[in-house]
Amino acid sequence: MDAARRGFLRGRPRDIASEFRPPWAGDEHDFIRLCTRCDACIEACPTKLIKAGGGGYPSVDFSRAECTFCGECARVCDSGAIARRQDAAPWGLRARFGAACIAAKGVECRICGESCEAGAVRFRPVLGGISQPEFEIERCTGCGACVAPCPVTAIAMGYPMESGR
Ligand code: SF4
Ligand code: SF4
Ligand code: SF4
Repeated sequence: MDAARRGFLRGRPRDIASEFRPPWAGDEHDFIRLCTRCDACIEACPTKLIKAGGGGYPSVDFSRAECTFCGECARVCDSGAIARRQDAAPWGLRARFGAACIAAKGVECRICGESCEAGAVRFRPVLGGISQPEFEIERCTGCGACVAPCPVTAIAMGYPMESGR
């Protein structure tokens, strides 16, 4: 198995208990302190990625949608809980791929690759076999567009090396 393939299968989707906040939310402690639970970001998000999570605090749910990084959630947030800074990355989230992938089991599927505008998931032809997805985390923007379309929920979002934001 080559290194790219090993990288694809590494990771444990669905193992993250914590909720993910909207982009540019910053430190969790500060976010909870500042957020007034006004729901403005939830109403403003054009993809409906943001929902009311535990305690009514906004969280993002990649099973519903992706983030386009449009910045609307930050624009409508008057509390400072979501504060977009042009020089700051929206978040450190990246895709994680798990072993449920049906391509690995001999079923043709390229949905995640077709969903990824960043080109982070590529399928190299396999002579006489099924092309296997290869994930390049360096290309991943953390948009989450590959998560919902995967027919077997083999993809989840997480922080690389589980190191936090
Ligand atoms: S940046 Fe845009 S798409 Fe992403 S969570 Fe905020 S409003 Fe939604
Ligand atoms: S969409 Fe899911 S099942 Fe299909 S190739 Fe990608 S990870 Fe595998
Ligand atoms: S999270 Fe976005 S950029 Fe990363 S692999 Fe999925 S679709 Fe591609």
